[in-house]
Parts: sequence; C-alpha cells; structure tokens
Amino acid sequence: MTSNADQLPLVAFVGRPNVGKSSLFNRIVGRRKAIVQDLPGTTRDRNYDLAEWRGRTFRVVDTGGMLGEQLEGPYASSVEDQVRLAMNEADAICFIVDVQTGIVSADEEMARLLREASQPVYLVANKADNNDLELAASEFYQLGLGDPHPLSAHHGRRVGDLLDEVVEWLPEMAAPQADIVCRLAIVGRPNVGKSSLINALLHEQRMIVSDVAGTTRDAVDTEVAFDDQRVVLVDTAGIRRRGKVEYGAEKASVRRATAAVTRADVVAVVVDAGLDITSQDQHILQIALEAHKGIILVMNKLDLIKDDDVIEDRRKRQLRWRSRFVPWAPIVWMSALTGENVQELLLMAVHVAEERRMRVSTGKLNACIRRANIDHPPASVHGRAVKFLYATQASVEPPTFVFFVNYPEGIHFSHERYLQRRIRDEFGFQGAALKLAFRKRGSTPLQTQQEDAPDLQTASQDAKRSSNNG
Ligand code: GDP
Repeated sequence: MTSNADQLPLVAFVGRPNVGKSSLFNRIVGRRKAIVQDLPGTTRDRNYDLAEWRGRTFRVVDTGGMLGEQLEGPYASSVEDQVRLAMNEADAICFIVDVQTGIVSADEEMARLLREASQPVYLVANKADNNDLELAASEFYQLGLGDPHPLSAHHGRRVGDLLDEVVEWLPEMAAPQADIVCRLAIVGRPNVGKSSLINALLHEQRMIVSDVAGTTRDAVDTEVAFDDQRVVLVDTAGIRRRGKVEYGAEKASVRRATAAVTRADVVAVVVDAGLDITSQDQHILQIALEAHKGIILVMNKLDLIKDDDVIEDRRKRQLRWRSRFVPWAPIVWMSALTGENVQELLLMAVHVAEERRMRVSTGKLNACIRRANIDHPPASVHGRAVKFLYATQASVEPPTFVFFVNYPEGIHFSHERYLQRRIRDEFGFQGAALKLAFRKRGSTPLQTQQEDAPDLQTASQDAKRSSNNG
C-alpha cells in the first residue's frame, strides 16, 4: 500500500510563508482528496498527499508545513532547513514566490540554495491573477532559476501549464499497487528449520526439506495470501537450494541472509530452541538491524523443549539476553513441525510492516522529544549544553527521524538509544528498526537566543496548531 505509494515520485513545495503554497498545494491535490483517504499512511501526515495529472500519480509535500513553518519570529525554522529537506527527498521542487510583493530576501536565500539542487526546480510566480501581473513575473529571472511560471493558485489560472511540465520530467515509477503488504525474509543458521517453516506457511509439503542440489540458482520469491492480503516470502529458492549441505557454512548463510534482507521489509530471524543461541545467530540479527528492517525473532522447534520448563525458561531468557541490542523485536515461539503458531508469524510480519510505514506528525514528535529531554537532558559537550531545536520524521520504511541540534557530534550513543526508547514508548513502531540522524542547525536567529530560551518552541506551537486542527 503505502510501501508502494512511498515509491511514487515526490514533488516538494517550498517558499516563504504567505506566498500561497498551501493554496497551490490544495488546488493540486484537491481533486484527489476523496481517493487519497483510502490509502493508509498517506493521510496520517497532513503535509503529504497524492496528486494526479494527465494519468500520472505523484506525491506532494509542503516542506514548510512539515517543519512547522516558523520562518519568521525568534524561533524560526530556517529557510535553509526547509530547502534542504526538499533537496534531500524530492524528485522535483516547486519554488513559490509572490508576484504581488516581488523579490524579498528570503526568496533570494532560497534561490541561492536551490541553484545547487540536482533535481528540476520550477520557479512558480504565484498570485499572477491577470495579464499585467503575469508580465511582472519576469522580475524573477533575477533569481537565476530559469523561466518563472506565472500562475494563480487562487483562480486556478495556468496551474495546468505548470503541472504539464512537472509531470513530463518526473521519473517513471510504478503506480501504487494496493495489495502487497509485506515482503518477509526468513533467515537463520543452517538447520534451524527455515525450509520447514516455509513449507508450513505454504500449507504444503511439496518443498523438499532435505538436500535439493541442482535447483535454480536464481532468487525466487513466493507469494502467499493471508487474510486477503498478499505477503511475499523473499528468496524461498535460496533457502531450498543448499538444503543440508551447509554445515558450518557461516559465510554462505550470512551472505544469503544479507541478500534476502536487502529485498525484505521484515526479517524473521529463526533460531533453534533445541540449541544455544550462538554468535552466528547474533551476526544474522545484526545484518537485519544494520539494514534498518523490521525484525521478528522466531524461536522454532518449541516442541523439542515444551515438556521441560527449566530448559524452556532458560532458552527464553537466553534469547532475550543475546538479542538485547534489539529489545523491541517481538518474539514468536513456534514449531514448524507441528504447525503451532506458524500463522502468528505472518500476522506479526504484517503488523511490523505496517509499523514501519507509520508516520508521526512533527508536532507530536517534538512534544515527545521535548519531554524526553526534560526528563533526561543530553550530556553537555565541552561544558556547553546540547540543545535540540526540533525534530521531524523525514521518511518511512525505515522510520527515519532527523534531529536538528546545536552540537550533533555531542549526542552520546546512550542518549540516542534513550530517544529511540521514548519514541517507541509513545508511538509504538513495534519491531521496526528506527533510523536517527542528528544534523547541525544552520545559521538562524535561534542560535542568538539567550541560553535559557525554551527548546523546541516551534514544536509546541506546532503541537498547539495540530491540536487546534483536531
Ligand atoms: P533450514 O536449514 O533452516 O532450512 O532447516 P530445515 O527446515 O531443513 O530443518 C532442519 C531439520 O530440523 C529438519 O530435520 C526438520 O525436520 C527439523 N525441524 C524443522 N522445524 C522443526 C520443529 O519445529 N520441530 C522439530 N522438532 N524439528 C524441526
């Protein structure tokens, strides 16, 4: 669903406040609103939306709205941040200026940054409500961004001309396909029961559990229907291929896991309940973590230890301990042999894939981070306080959070882990590896504020605004 929607080309709208960004944004997505409601994830963040023009569907984002659009006043989010966000994420950028006010310094600053953009930038001269104002748009040639596109978002005048040009240059990407909900890789050491598990999932025994030398070397994925949803099991042939011949073949199983993990949303790391958890199990888990995938721990062969409470308890504790670097990964206990709990894995995989697509609003995120930093302030660097200016969820799959701080290099790993925990406590993201990035805040008025100015002021204003909006 949104995994596919998120692969659609993205057009970002940037511009200082009051140039008519949201009017243009609404005019472009307006027609689609009703349809968009049906796409999970896309409506969770009011700054992202889908638009369609001449049969092409694309996503649009108002980066100003996303950053709380505090471009004026003492707690301004900088023009630079807004533009950089667009330049990092978008396939095309519409830079909106106002013909009725002409060029102001914030326009110039944005233009200076946008001249470095690697994607097409469309200079949109809004509020050109009549022919005279259209002519006045030629002033904007000075910004060094090519031809201005005079239009009137309010009157709908010449908006189509802009869209014609934008869609012509957008990269070709697949239209959203609403039905694959999860790509699941099943990885683990040899003989933990991966093939048996796949067999059980497919409700059939045609797949041979023992050696199957000579089968295709190409990676083959298998699709299973689950509650009318499509789940793809990644690289099923890869698992069959080597069968029982992989004794001690740590490198081979790691290599294969790496390849499968790359193509998956969620990784089920299978371990054998009959054996101790080894460093190789941990290694495979680490691969999934480093790829920022969804992770589920699968303790297979539960039937072997079920009658022995002591062993069962010991295994469970050992699994949690040895996987303590992913304390948020859910554990599914199962037996591929008896089929017990096998469906649980699919249920959990679909759930984790969904969590990876979750997007939290900038306002709520900032409120959460502010509280976290009050409860447990970050350690200072060279005697200077580390200040969090604001945070935003930059993307999904994996959920990626960008924090703008005064000393990004000063954020200790333990504080990063703490923030992750607080984000999880508040929003969930069950089973999803999160990605956190700390960026230095560009030169903005905020840096000249006195030291005791409350951090994340923009966030609280943003939060207020979003609660006003319901
Ligand atoms: P793979 O190398 O990870 O694909 O492991 P296989 O699926 O080939 O299984 C290895 C061995 O473990 C086979 O003999 C299976 O029958 C056995 N096995 C798999 N799952 C279970 C289980 O849940 N319980 C028990 N007792 N044996 C299992």
